[in-house]
Amino acid sequence: ALSPVRRALLSVSDKTGVIDFARGLSERGVDLLSTGGTASLLREAGLSVTDVSEVTGFPEMMDGRVKTLHPKVHGGLLALRDNAEHLAAMQAHGIAPIDLLVVNLYPFEATVAKGADYDTCIENIDIGGPAMIRAAAKNHAHVAVVVDPEDYAKVLGDLDQHGGKTCPKFRRKLAQRAFARTAAYDAAVSSWMAGAIGDPAPRRRAFAGTLAQTLRYGENPHQRAAFYTDGSDRPGVATAKQWQGKELSYNNINDTDAAFELVAEFDPAEAPACAIIKHANPCGVARGATLLDAYRRAYDCDRTSAFGGIVALNRTLDAATAEEICQIFTEVVIAPDADEAAKAVFAAKKNLRLLTTGALPDPKAPGLAFRQVAGGFLVQDRDNGLVTAADLTVVTRRAPTEAELADLLFAWKVAKHVKSNAIVYVKGGATVGVGAGQMSRVDSTRIAARKSADMADALGLAEPTVRGSVVASDAFFPFPDGLLTAAEAGATAVIQPGGSMRDDEVIAAADAAGLAMVFTGQRHFRH
Ligand code: 5GP
Repeated sequence: ALSPVRRALLSVSDKTGVIDFARGLSERGVDLLSTGGTASLLREAGLSVTDVSEVTGFPEMMDGRVKTLHPKVHGGLLALRDNAEHLAAMQAHGIAPIDLLVVNLYPFEATVAKGADYDTCIENIDIGGPAMIRAAAKNHAHVAVVVDPEDYAKVLGDLDQHGGKTCPKFRRKLAQRAFARTAAYDAAVSSWMAGAIGDPAPRRRAFAGTLAQTLRYGENPHQRAAFYTDGSDRPGVATAKQWQGKELSYNNINDTDAAFELVAEFDPAEAPACAIIKHANPCGVARGATLLDAYRRAYDCDRTSAFGGIVALNRTLDAATAEEICQIFTEVVIAPDADEAAKAVFAAKKNLRLLTTGALPDPKAPGLAFRQVAGGFLVQDRDNGLVTAADLTVVTRRAPTEAELADLLFAWKVAKHVKSNAIVYVKGGATVGVGAGQMSRVDSTRIAARKSADMADALGLAEPTVRGSVVASDAFFPFPDGLLTAAEAGATAVIQPGGSMRDDEVIAAADAAGLAMVFTGQRHFRH
């Protein structure tokens, strides 16, 4: 049934639009109740307001921890207006109905995002607000609850449409939004606490996301899609500033994330680096003397696939690199920053999306990764494994040379970001062949070598770039065949986790082929 609004309680932290809304209510004959800060603001605006403390007979106390937690408030929100017992209880205890609740909560998420200390975050956990929101939402048969300033105008519209009453359908919709808000709020508190107490296990966590963007469509045009942020301050596609170009698509966001996470593996203090991504797999990754050099070398790994790709850089984009990127069609460029000259170069390319993030994400940072399965979802720690030279065990008679070692570590970092089975050939700090997503490791090994041969042909080189390269395998070689294929193609050194039942056979094959091989002891499956 339609429900009259005679008395409203307003208690908001975000005061956006609240004066106009309260005035609108007042003009429609609604009595206003309010808490400290909100009440002063409304009074200053010339509105007549009753303090909640006057209704409860208690002052706001304990730094505002206790303001509205009182039967005169909660009884007024929860009482069923068509229940004789409830009405008798209201009568007996002097409780007046509250027909409209307007609350937005202490800014907990924003406080965390600002990097506030533990005690400040705790103090920003709203208690009375969610209690009232849940009470009003539960009693939506009679009470309207508003948690978002965007809905203020709609409430006034509803009142006008129904002669000062709210309609049940609208109240139900508002109640659903209210529960969504308190659920997200508690999830944010729980996630923050899990981080604060250093609980590394991705268990017993609540998950919260904030709708950032409704996307035109999903992976395919017949799928609806949206982008949610989780409130973390990790530099990347979710926190980036977009300078130009069309709106990011679902696939753009996915691929740009893959590209930036990969390029972040390469310390910008050591060398400029570039990663080019297609369908979430790298088709070229390289270090260079300059950023331009890094881009060119990455591009030369697989020019065909790079068309329409995503380019990620680990340093500030400059004009020379921007000019070179413009030579082919590129969907997105992401970098920590871009100088003015580079932006001017891109300005002519209207469709090219340029994103800057201010910083690179830390590959070692903890975090969670999700994956959906039918009927549920899987949660795991993000793969933040990082192998250094000190973690390697040389298992062959020949140890890698210094140059091979540098390339092995480079190839290992790339392999971590290639879908399994991953095989990555690297020479001189640039990928020369990437084999991704095959069900057989031997196939990945062959595909990567063949792509390298094709590229050498296209570039008019005398021999495939894979000759004299090193090779990384994201998981162990179960048999010598994959390793031998790589050796035949021309690889001279191998990096892999080790741990196969047939490691001895694989090591013997490597020795026989004159390869140097190191074990990482850590695997990088990526599915
Ligand atoms: P005001 O600025 O009006 O003083 O405070 C408004 C804020 O107080 C709102 O965000 C509201 O959710 C919150 N609030 C209202 N009642 C209580 C309460 O009893 N305890 C706590 N911790 N917060 C409350």
